[in-house]
Amino acid sequence: MEVEKIMQNLEQKHPGESEFLQAVREVLLSVKDIYNQHPEFEKAKIIERIVEPERIVMFRVPWTDDKGDVHVNIGYRVQFNSAIGPYKGGLRFHPSVNLSIMKFLGFEQTFKNALTTLPMGGAKGGSDFSIRGRSDAEVMRFCQSFMAELYRHIGPNVDVPAGDIGVGGREIGYLFGMYKKLTTQWEGVLTGKGMEWGGSILRPEATGYGALYFVNQMLQTRNIDIKGKSVVISGFGNVAWGAAKKATELGAKVITISGPDGYIYDPAGISGEKIEYMLELRATGNDICSPYADKFEGSKFVEGKKPWECKADIYLTCATQNELNGQDADMILAHKPDCVAEVSNMGCTADAVTKFVEAQQLFAPGKAVNAGGVATSGLEMTQNSIRLHWSGQEVDEKLHYIMHSIHEQCVKYGTQPDGYIDYVKGANVAGFMKVAHAMMAQGVV
Ligand code: GLU
Repeated sequence: MEVEKIMQNLEQKHPGESEFLQAVREVLLSVKDIYNQHPEFEKAKIIERIVEPERIVMFRVPWTDDKGDVHVNIGYRVQFNSAIGPYKGGLRFHPSVNLSIMKFLGFEQTFKNALTTLPMGGAKGGSDFSIRGRSDAEVMRFCQSFMAELYRHIGPNVDVPAGDIGVGGREIGYLFGMYKKLTTQWEGVLTGKGMEWGGSILRPEATGYGALYFVNQMLQTRNIDIKGKSVVISGFGNVAWGAAKKATELGAKVITISGPDGYIYDPAGISGEKIEYMLELRATGNDICSPYADKFEGSKFVEGKKPWECKADIYLTCATQNELNGQDADMILAHKPDCVAEVSNMGCTADAVTKFVEAQQLFAPGKAVNAGGVATSGLEMTQNSIRLHWSGQEVDEKLHYIMHSIHEQCVKYGTQPDGYIDYVKGANVAGFMKVAHAMMAQGVV
């Protein structure tokens, strides 16, 4: 495989899709050695096929606001790869959403889902719609309009969307209601549903919890105890919330969270009622950081900056893609931390990843670290299929097992001759091999 040639080709076909091209390049660089040992892959053009989505649906989403004004957003569903199961992946509602971001997320999801051990293909969708400042009624009308088109492309054995940035329990509820009305079917077509109507216990917490189970195992490879460690977290959404809760439960101390306007530094630790307060602010659509600093003594709001400048033992990206760049990586490396992990999808830029790996920093990529979210979605699908509702303990045990198994796959495929575990390579190779083998078995389709 000639990575540069493939990339040139892809850049010509899809000019300007920078996030997508970044995600593909990372995977190709990781898998090229093992790929070259499999001439049958080359013959079947596995790479050329795996980098193109099986299908992309793009559609108009018109809706009316509370004043009666009409708005038009763009809706997307990128059904990337169904080799190992029905398409599965979240929906993102955020003004930054475009085709490149949808494709990068769908591509990442394919390998992430392969790592979970569950039979799920990869997809992503969403819209450039912003829920910020919108009333419940406006969000409902938007979701209904979005589903009025999406419903014909999804189904419990076809494609099962879920949440992502801007899509939480409320949005899943409105989307599900409209799907049910249009199809007259009550089925497990979405995950992240409410507990009373087919949702799985622990799904809201699962991304953050799973990430901390994974980080704990990373630390154990270097005989480091997580207790008493300080943790820098970015973001203030669902993922940051779950990560902060579990980090605290494991005995670590979370000292930052961040929003678009800056970050909060709270040396006393962000836990308990402080986390609940952050949730309250988020639910009301308010800024998180400045009200937090006003309420809790000893904390401070640092405007317009990212939390990476703070000294800590563990750094977790929990907000969005490319939120940690090469300069940030230099700053973090100077603090000699125990561990850096992407909890957001592709949280680090390519040069930041290279710096961490070259420094032999204990570092892991989002597709391994944050896979607990979609894995628990997979467990929700199972519960819907067998029409049962598992206890929290049962789901948590399975989540533990899955995160453990993802870690094992990373160690198996990522351990270098000098003993350094390259989790980026490990995760990419393990995910890729599973999808490639499934595609080989199913012929040229
Ligand atoms: N959006 C989440 C992710 O990036 C969850 C997807 C899902 O549960 O299907 O993996």
